[in-house]
Amino acid sequence: MTVAADLFPGGVNSPVRAYRAVGGEPPVLVRGEGAFVWNDAGRRYIDYVGAFGPLLLGHANRSVVEAIKNAAEAGGSFGVTGPGEVRLAQLIKTRMPSIERIRFVNSGTEAAMSALRVARAATRRDLIVKFEGGYHGHADSLLVEAGSGAATLSIPGSAGVAPSVAAQTLVATYNDLDSVAALLDSHRNNVAAVIVEPVAANMGVVAPVSGFLQGLRDLTERAGALLIFDEVITGFRVAPGGAQELYGVRPDLTVLGKIIGGGLPVGAYGGRADLMDLVAPSGPVYQAGTLSGHPVVMAAGEATLAQLTPDIYAKIESQAARLESGVRVAGACVVRVGSLLTLFFRGRPPRNFREAKSSDTKAFARFFHSMLEAGVLLPPSQFEAWFVSASHDGSVIDSTLEALR
Ligand SMILES: *Cc1c(COP(=O)(O)O)cnc(C)c1O
Repeated sequence: MTVAADLFPGGVNSPVRAYRAVGGEPPVLVRGEGAFVWNDAGRRYIDYVGAFGPLLLGHANRSVVEAIKNAAEAGGSFGVTGPGEVRLAQLIKTRMPSIERIRFVNSGTEAAMSALRVARAATRRDLIVKFEGGYHGHADSLLVEAGSGAATLSIPGSAGVAPSVAAQTLVATYNDLDSVAALLDSHRNNVAAVIVEPVAANMGVVAPVSGFLQGLRDLTERAGALLIFDEVITGFRVAPGGAQELYGVRPDLTVLGKIIGGGLPVGAYGGRADLMDLVAPSGPVYQAGTLSGHPVVMAAGEATLAQLTPDIYAKIESQAARLESGVRVAGACVVRVGSLLTLFFRGRPPRNFREAKSSDTKAFARFFHSMLEAGVLLPPSQFEAWFVSASHDGSVIDSTLEALR
C-alpha cells in the first residue's frame, strides 16, 4: 500500500508484518473468520499467521466478539480494579500454579521488561542471561542477539541501545546447558536471571531437548539467579498450563501476552508471591500502566480462556499433527510443538539459532509465495512459527495439504 509506505516506517507498525524477507507486497486484509482471512478483492486465504500468536480460537470467535461488545458497552476504564481483572487473573492462576501473583500490562514487551526489573531488585544483581535468537519484546536490554523480526531483518542488536545497557545482557546458546553454566560461573553472584522461551518460537520453532529446561532450573537455583519463562507465545497454547506444565518445570517468574488478551493488546508477568510483592505499591519496584487490565481486554481474554478445555487442546493437537505429517517438502523438515510449527529449509531440525539461520531462506521465500498463490497465508519469514488454531479443522488442513501439491 503506497499510502502506508508514506505514513509508517517501512509501511508497517511492526517490522514482522513487512515482506522484506520474502519479497513482494503484503495482501490488504479486511476480514477474518475462523481459520480464514479475506483481502480487499474478496479473495479468501487459509491463515497460519493468527495475528502472530494470540488467535488460538481463530478470527472473530463468536463469544470473544460478544464479550468485547458487552464490555465496551459497559463503559471504559474506571481507574480502579475491576471484576474482569480478578476473573482473568484467577483463570490464569488456576491453570498456571507457579503464578501466585500477577500484574497485567499492555504488551509482552512491557511484561518482560518488568519481570527483569523485579529479578534485579530481588537478587540485587544486574546481569541477565538470554539466548541467541530468543525474542522477549523490544526493551533495550532484550534487543541483544534477538529473534523474530530482528532475526528476519538481520538486526539482532538494535541501533539506539546504549552499549552500557547491552553489556548487562549475556547471551547463551539455546539447548546448550554448558553455555549457561559457563556464563553463571564467570559472572558468579552477578546474574539476576536467566530468561528463556521454553519452546523457542521466534527463530522458527525450536524444541527444548530433553533435560534442557530442568537443567536451567537446577543451574539457576545453584547460582542464586531467577528463572524466567517467557510464555508469551507458549502460554495456554502448547498445553492448558503452558510449557511449564508440558515440561514439568516451575519458573520463578512467567511472562505472558498474546492469547490471554483474546486478540487485543495485553501482557502480564507473575510468579512467586515474595517476588511479585516487590512491585509497587506493595514494594519498591515501580511499574504502572494507565490502561493496564482494561475491561475490554480482560473480557476478551476471559472469553478465550473459558473456551480452552482439554477437549479443545486435544482437537488442535490432532489437526496440527495431521498438518505436520502431511507436509512433505523436498529439502525441508518440519518442527512442531503442539499448535506451533515451522518448516525449516534445511535437512534436520535445528537445535539453536545458529543452526536455524543456516536454513535456505531463498527456498523459504519461493515456498511462501507458492503457498500464497494457492491461497494459504504463512508468516512471511523462515524464523516465525505457523500458528494452528481451533478453527483449523479437518477440511482446512486437507485444503492446506492440497495447496502443497
Ligand atoms: C510477541 C512476543 C513478545 C512481545 O510481545 P508484544 O506484545 O509484541 O510486545 C515477547 N516474548 C515473546 C516470546 C513473544 O513471542
